[in-house]
Amino acid sequence: FKLLSDTTHSGEIGTKKKVKRLLSFQRYFHASRLLRGIIPQAPLHLLDEDYLGQARHMLSKVGMWDFDIFLFDRLTNGNSLVTLLCHLFNTHGLIHHFKLDMVTLHRFLVMVQEDYHSQNPYHNAVHAADVTQAMHCYLKEPKLASFLTPLDIMLGLLAAAAHDVDHPGVNQPFLIKTNHHLANLYQNMSVLENHHWRSTIGMLRESRLLAHLPKEMTQDIEQQLGSLILATDINRQNEFLTRLKAHLHNKDLRLEDTHDRHFMLQIALKCADICNPCRIWEMSKQWSERVCEEFYRQGDLEQKFELEISPLCNQQKDSIPSIQIGFMTYIVEPLFREWARFTGNSPLSENMLSHLAHNKAQWKSLLHKQPRSSSGSSPEHGGPGTEKEAHTGLDA
Ligand SMILES: [Zn+2]
Repeated sequence: FKLLSDTTHSGEIGTKKKVKRLLSFQRYFHASRLLRGIIPQAPLHLLDEDYLGQARHMLSKVGMWDFDIFLFDRLTNGNSLVTLLCHLFNTHGLIHHFKLDMVTLHRFLVMVQEDYHSQNPYHNAVHAADVTQAMHCYLKEPKLASFLTPLDIMLGLLAAAAHDVDHPGVNQPFLIKTNHHLANLYQNMSVLENHHWRSTIGMLRESRLLAHLPKEMTQDIEQQLGSLILATDINRQNEFLTRLKAHLHNKDLRLEDTHDRHFMLQIALKCADICNPCRIWEMSKQWSERVCEEFYRQGDLEQKFELEISPLCNQQKDSIPSIQIGFMTYIVEPLFREWARFTGNSPLSENMLSHLAHNKAQWKSLLHKQPRSSSGSSPEHGGPGTEKEAHTGLDA
């Protein structure tokens, strides 16, 4: 933990961040920034009318698969997560249905957005906004949509928005080998996911967003959020894939049943979390570069502190094309093939699978132009253990 705090943040900002992390459930420190005269990010209404108009126009197409979250984030001055969630809560009728207070909802969403680390190349609030936008698209799938209750929709959107909150930019094996306090706290099991969940609960309770709802209901919401966020642990990929395959084979999914709907929400969130390779090439490529940059930074840290460099984190050996091809082959394709089966090969599923095939071909053509990827680390040509590396190294 000390090693992380000392190296990933520097100077004054580092000290403040450290205080914030240690006291993540005592957010009055956070609020008091205003009192101490630290200027917060410009609120949306101060933005140029032109940008606002463009952002609003984009929101009218939020259900399109080619939605450009990077552009949307720029147009909202880095507030993509808050702006997107407010809009989706509104359009899904959740504010009305659950009698939510708009100001409280906004305050809660700002807490979530600010608890993401903007210095992470990948695991930042834009990734959360991207996953939420994908989740919104999946919740509209005809095979699922007609069964969903307002509670399901709220859980799906909240889980997507908060599923990586306070992500440190390194993976679980790194936290374990550096004796990070979170690894001890969660006994080396779904360390990050447990932290994302507990942080979310802390913010929900502190904001009092759901305080007016019956206690049994808020308890149920907290549990379901946990079960959804914990499902994003990539180490549990096979467990979920096997269950999904069995359900589809036996044709025994009963979406009238809460339990089965919850399972499909878990699957939808898992898909949303790793859907980057199913986006159009220009966006998919940006995500790939970002996630690899985050891996390489971890590798650099490991090298600096003479720790063994984790799989996929060695910039000299693990090229972006080889990492991406492995990820697509062993993680993304198997899951999205089953998702397509579930949706009855919906237009969106067909579209995603077609992008996936195209993007994989693009990376393959780039792979052959990069001589260093032939040094033995290419998942396409790699020896035994490659699949395991792809499973354990990629922490979506
Ligand atoms: Zn994620």
